[in-house]
Amino acid sequence: MVQCHLQVVGSGKADTGLSIILFFDDHRYLFNCGEGTQRLCAEKGLNLFRVDTVFFTQLDALSAGGLFGTLLTLADAGKTSLELFGPTGLARFFTASSSFYRRPSLELSINEIGFDALYGNIYQDMNIEVAAVPLVSTFFPKDQKVDGSKLKRPRITSKKLVVCYVVTMKDIPGKFDPLAAKALNVPKGPLFGRLSKGETITLSDGKKIFPSQVVSEPFPGPCIGIVSCPDIHYISSVTSSSRLSRFALRSIQNSKKKERHLCVVHMGTSAVFEDKNYIEWAQSLGEDVHHILLLEDSLDAPLIFDSQAELLKLLSTSVDKELFQVPKDTSTLDKTDRKVFFDLQKRIMERWSNVNVVFGESLLKYHLAPLSKLGVDRTAMGRAYQVVIDPNTERENEDLGLLETTRSQAFESSRKSPTCFEDVGEVIFFGTGAAIPSKLRNVSGICLHLYHRGGILLDCGEGTFGQILRVFGITEVNNFIAQLKLIFVSHMHADHHLGLLRILEYRLKLDYEQPLIILGPSELSVWLEAYEQINGQLLHYVFLDNESFTCPQEPIVNYMSSNIGLQVETVPVLHCFHAYGIVLFDNLFEWKMVYSGDTMPCDALIRAGQGANLVIHEATFESNMEQIALEKGHCTYRQALDVCKAMNPEWIILTHFSQRYAKFPVIDNLSDTNEFVAFDLLRVPFSKLSLLPSLLPALCELFKGEEESNGKELHDAS
Ligand SMILES: [Zn+2]
Ligand SMILES: [Zn+2]
Repeated sequence: MVQCHLQVVGSGKADTGLSIILFFDDHRYLFNCGEGTQRLCAEKGLNLFRVDTVFFTQLDALSAGGLFGTLLTLADAGKTSLELFGPTGLARFFTASSSFYRRPSLELSINEIGFDALYGNIYQDMNIEVAAVPLVSTFFPKDQKVDGSKLKRPRITSKKLVVCYVVTMKDIPGKFDPLAAKALNVPKGPLFGRLSKGETITLSDGKKIFPSQVVSEPFPGPCIGIVSCPDIHYISSVTSSSRLSRFALRSIQNSKKKERHLCVVHMGTSAVFEDKNYIEWAQSLGEDVHHILLLEDSLDAPLIFDSQAELLKLLSTSVDKELFQVPKDTSTLDKTDRKVFFDLQKRIMERWSNVNVVFGESLLKYHLAPLSKLGVDRTAMGRAYQVVIDPNTERENEDLGLLETTRSQAFESSRKSPTCFEDVGEVIFFGTGAAIPSKLRNVSGICLHLYHRGGILLDCGEGTFGQILRVFGITEVNNFIAQLKLIFVSHMHADHHLGLLRILEYRLKLDYEQPLIILGPSELSVWLEAYEQINGQLLHYVFLDNESFTCPQEPIVNYMSSNIGLQVETVPVLHCFHAYGIVLFDNLFEWKMVYSGDTMPCDALIRAGQGANLVIHEATFESNMEQIALEKGHCTYRQALDVCKAMNPEWIILTHFSQRYAKFPVIDNLSDTNEFVAFDLLRVPFSKLSLLPSLLPALCELFKGEEESNGKELHDAS
């Protein structure tokens, strides 16, 4: 019996971009691969390895931001081929990404769909047929006048192509009727099976029995519409498309009279879903159609990464509520803010009257076959919704008393030794893992948050936006993103820069005057420009090359001091081509901070980082893995500590741990001085840096036994 369902992975709302998987017993098809797709699949036990075909509606961060991270992971896990379909520009996206995506072992078949895509199927196999429907925008970009005279360059530079897909399942075989077979004297047994499979049989008396005599008519396979309508300027293209009419979506190709069952997944904004014409088109498809709405411009979402939330809850209640804050979700909003989302959903639901409509949340399923199960299934969503975290929950583990005592003693002593830059800012770790995102550690992303002076991101791996949202919550996230001054990208490995696009696109919506400064390797600029051209929009940033900041005498260095109020020096480090560390110095409050990026022990960094207040250094492997660290261009824990101590800094925080250490890195020979290890969502005000080292022994005790290496060799290379 054919079993088939589709499942929303990323709903496009908060932690994740857009992604939907269509499941058959033997095949899986992925529609879009937004940021965070692979992390969410790992969290929820969804196996992407079995996906052989991926269809993209758009090539923006929301729809395709998780593509390269996922491909790297699949290739390293041994996948050898994959077929990709998407709007024109897909091949260019790959060419522009050649500086960080090289996996010849994974053979890709790239199929581009243009404005002039013909009618007919672009793909078919034993389960489905897929037709593509290109959409065009009615928006004509033109210069806008600002302040009466100044011409403002439009951010939209060309019409972006969007592709929708019509997926038609093969007809579902009819039901075998044993009573009809019996009446025709067919003996019970193997002949029943042959007839139900569609074979004609001959009875012992020579009489032929045809399957049509005992099996009901095949049922026309359901149709799934994947309709992406990114803004109101695409609505007329949807509503006027003959390929998206009731007749095209539900008609049958042979003599059977029944219309196909139709389920439409809509990806769009609230303006689209509230539009009268769009709703009328949806209603015109038939009253029995099921509509799943993926609302892209709402951040209203529950906690999705449960494991991370649970760990944070443990650390928050047993270690420190300020350092380890429980991730924020909609439930932490006050009534007024929650009401905004509630009212929006209610309004849309009311307008979509006379049809079956649900909002698509992560893990929502829609069963397509067998027909007896047809419809929405929310059971898989259960867990995500159960992890509603009460920040006031009392500590559950008695053994943590030790930690509590250490904490209070340390805090007392820390108060007696204030540092020179106490109230100036905080460090927030958005991602502390190497190479691929895992349940508990996202890939690199560290924020130097100087409060009203703005924020600086040191690397920005895939999923950083979601982590920012969980730290700042819906009410503060816009302010934080708008106030970002600089994003430093240390090198072109996928775990350090793939989150950049979502942040830049989100910031664009805030329409903030000040461009974001991006300081990175020259290859990053090529990649960003290609992305802008493919998507027909400018992302509003100023790009500066890491190379220009290696010499503090260069005039460009002043540009940074006057724009972000900090002196910046980049340091070539020992990892891959164009890999850099960074040194930041604040002339105003006289503090100095060093971030290593990815590197082996590096003398140049030691020289540049002398006397720093804080050094954040990578420590990918445990101390006895020097050989593998050397091969991969990283540091062991011990090497990282030696490098940091040679700088004679006030405080050291180690990060970028191999994902082989799921919860906690392997720490040998605990140093008794000034070191700490980073956790995702660790938030350290400068005034609390001195508290950290004394918490380390207790944390080692807490995670005793969990820090063992799991021995995985995959993905340690970035
Ligand atoms: Zn890395
Ligand atoms: Zn790297």
